[in-house]
Amino acid sequence: MNTIGHLINGEVCTDSERTQDVFNPATGLATRKVALASVETVEQAISCAEAAFPAWRNTPAIKRARVMFRFKALLEANADKICQMIGEEHGKISHDAAGELQRGIENVEYACGAPELLKGEHSKNVGSNVDSWSEFQPLGVVAGITPFNFPAMVPLWMFPMAIACGNCFILKPSERDPSSTLFIAQLLKEAGLPDGVMNVVNGDKVAVDVLLSDERIKAVSFVGSTPIAEYIYSTASANGKRCQALGGAKNHAIIMPDADMGNVVSQLLGAAFGSSGERCMALSVAVAVGDDAGDALVESMAEAMSDLKVGAYSDSSNDFGPVITAQHRDKVVGYINHAEEQGATIVVDGRSPEVEGFSNGFFVGGTLIDNVTPDMVSYKEEIFGPVLQVVRVNTMQEAMELIDNHEYGNGTCIFTRDGEAARYFSDNIKVGMVGINVPLPVPVAYHSFGGWKRSLFGDLHAYGPDAVRFYTKRKTITQRWPSSGIREGAEFSMPTMN
Ligand code: NAD
Repeated sequence: MNTIGHLINGEVCTDSERTQDVFNPATGLATRKVALASVETVEQAISCAEAAFPAWRNTPAIKRARVMFRFKALLEANADKICQMIGEEHGKISHDAAGELQRGIENVEYACGAPELLKGEHSKNVGSNVDSWSEFQPLGVVAGITPFNFPAMVPLWMFPMAIACGNCFILKPSERDPSSTLFIAQLLKEAGLPDGVMNVVNGDKVAVDVLLSDERIKAVSFVGSTPIAEYIYSTASANGKRCQALGGAKNHAIIMPDADMGNVVSQLLGAAFGSSGERCMALSVAVAVGDDAGDALVESMAEAMSDLKVGAYSDSSNDFGPVITAQHRDKVVGYINHAEEQGATIVVDGRSPEVEGFSNGFFVGGTLIDNVTPDMVSYKEEIFGPVLQVVRVNTMQEAMELIDNHEYGNGTCIFTRDGEAARYFSDNIKVGMVGINVPLPVPVAYHSFGGWKRSLFGDLHAYGPDAVRFYTKRKTITQRWPSSGIREGAEFSMPTMN
């Protein structure tokens, strides 16, 4: 069986003392192995990155950007191959994988603007013959640790901007679907990136812990579940590193009584069940305001769900694929069982879907649960599966309190025709990314992405303008070229502009 290795100093290598199986979740079969990096392998990658840093730091930003231009073209030319790899290991349908890759490429396009983004700030004559400017210098060697659910897009949130800013990068992708990520990183060499600037170490906690403790790593970007995000943030910060750690989610949509129900249902179908609900922006809770809205929603949604098609990635007529592992399938089914035991109504039951020809795949069908209440386990925790839960409330205020009281604050949305209600909602809700009649308000690449509360630990969001700040440190220089003699310009009190 083929073993997926690491990318160190421009070469693919493996230290296959420890490996883990990689599955095709549609067939349920292990198809490859992935090497789990040892401490020494990660240290070697860091050494190579450190050696590459001085030359890369001093490479003009325009030349660094040209690598990104070529990289973008290579990603586009290899799109089908990348989507195939994503399908084989993650299970998402080819149209969904293509969407993920496109959103990733948009981050490369943003990184192509590095010369403009790194221009800095200049003030002439802040005092007589004194000029001052701030410039943004790279940090050195920085690391990214990424989740299984976007093996192409989430790494592309991180390393293109970090590298365009002049840093060297160590990426630790998810060990569950590592092939597309490694292949994407290999394209950088073809794009003209010097060896050692971009490195990939596959692995598990062993590799992550080296990245969190080695003093040569200056910053860590993490995306994954909240318990691990919290661990990464506290450990990296305690070790003096800059850190941003994005965690899990429970995204609510408020359905107001005046909402266009046809539009709501078609939007929720994709937002709740697309990618099997394995998106941190998946809409997993619909909060219906008033019983009329609740009844209409449940009735129309159940009807629309009768057409949902779950199946293998290779058939693009499928709406969504399997979940990532057998254990995760059992966990999702466990949440549905819990909801039923705690008194919720299972309106559409996806616990045992029939998928012809794929009886051993890790499939869960689209599931709709009504009469969910905030004390239920399935409401409190992130399910990360194709499950939409309906909570019924009487007022918009009640709906907003529900969202504000939830531990997560990644994304949310309101469906309404009332501009005043929408404006009040977006202004006051305690969530980082808000949609108004837009169910998946994932910011475009030139804004930044991040949640509030326990969906993000750190100060700066991912990609966009925040990434330029995260991957650089400000240096402010004040200069005067004196023309006077000794002591003439001596200043003993705090300098002012007077
Ligand atoms: P995960 O937390 O299990 O794994 C993420 C990364 O952390 C992987 O690279 C993994 O190898 C590593 N890791 C796992 N356990 C570790 C440990 N004990 N110590 C050190 N490293 C460890 O997440 P996942 O299951 O791969 O991804 C799904 C989760 O990611 C969901 O909770 C989802 O909401 C979240 N997510 C969040 C965002 C966001 O932007 N907020 C985006 C995508 C996914």
